[in-house]
Amino acid sequence: MLNRPFVLISALLLIGLLVWSQRPQVATEVARTALLMGTLVEIKGVGGDEKNIEKAISDAFSIMRAEEERFSSELETSQISLINRSDVPVVVDAQVLKVLRLGQKITRQSQGAFDFGMGGLKRLWDFKALTPRVPTALEIAAVLPQRSLKRVAIDGERVVRLGARVQLDLGGIAKGFAVDRALDVLRSAGLKSASINAGGDIGLLGGHGERPWKIGIQHPRKANELLATLELRDRAIVTSGDYERFFMVDGLRYHHIFDPQTGMPARGCQSVTVIAAHVAEADSLATAAFVLGPQKGLAFLETYPDVEGLIVAADGKRTMTKGLNGRLKWR
Ligand code: ADP
Ligand code: MG
Repeated sequence: MLNRPFVLISALLLIGLLVWSQRPQVATEVARTALLMGTLVEIKGVGGDEKNIEKAISDAFSIMRAEEERFSSELETSQISLINRSDVPVVVDAQVLKVLRLGQKITRQSQGAFDFGMGGLKRLWDFKALTPRVPTALEIAAVLPQRSLKRVAIDGERVVRLGARVQLDLGGIAKGFAVDRALDVLRSAGLKSASINAGGDIGLLGGHGERPWKIGIQHPRKANELLATLELRDRAIVTSGDYERFFMVDGLRYHHIFDPQTGMPARGCQSVTVIAAHVAEADSLATAAFVLGPQKGLAFLETYPDVEGLIVAADGKRTMTKGLNGRLKWR
């Protein structure tokens, strides 16, 4: 997501400077990648002792793996799967409670556009199948839970699904939460400058050294091209798009962000980018705004004083929250 030419040119400039001055006083920078949560995750740490950064990054990956094990609905042993198989309350840990509480809040605030109870629908659409297909209306009706702003009841540390068809799927929020947790690990290790990019869910610690981080926003229709860049520090920025997981039938794109009212892919947007204080928040708000569509989605994002957003509508039209005005550099 980072602007490659920019990174390349700065790297070359740095190398040039080093060679010229023979004084390697440039901040240490360590970057590592790993396959996690179904995506390529890159963690960068800048400044201080190299061994310390390496250790912090390795611990950050470990905690992301632990979060994946907690939240994956595909993993039979995850706490989410336990809830999904049970008709009686199940004891869960503090992390699961935190995500479910945030999820319920975003569900309420988005009037049901964000719905983490559609695991049955996700299984039905099966984007991982070799030849995915569009399910029939009957099949969809059989798995779609009744409209509700409450998918689970929480009593202390006990959680139970509300409704036989409710199957939890935290795919619209858990990746963001995992990035938040990994950022905590980096912060605790003393890092002042770091970035984590989990397939478009980005969390930033400080700036990129003395300067802000320069973040690229993926163009929803041009692979490997940026739509815009912007400078940020200490923020989360997440993009949800219809280009990440999809298949085409008769020229129509079927993707993985569903409108809970119909059980079909939401049709209003190509992509939604949200900037917020925490990645879990940005992640879930981006999914919610995507479902709400360009007009309602933008109005929804504007209701949060500390949140900004950019929406690319289905027709390619771009709109953004007032606070983003003048901050994006279009490519
Ligand atoms: P990605 O995970 O690809 O970055 P999103 O954050 O937009 O994309 O999340 C999409 C995932 O969220 C889907 O794969 C599914 O698991 C889940 N999901 C789909 N529709 C909704 C919805 N309306 N509300 C909440 N979660 C959803
Ligand atoms: Mg999301």
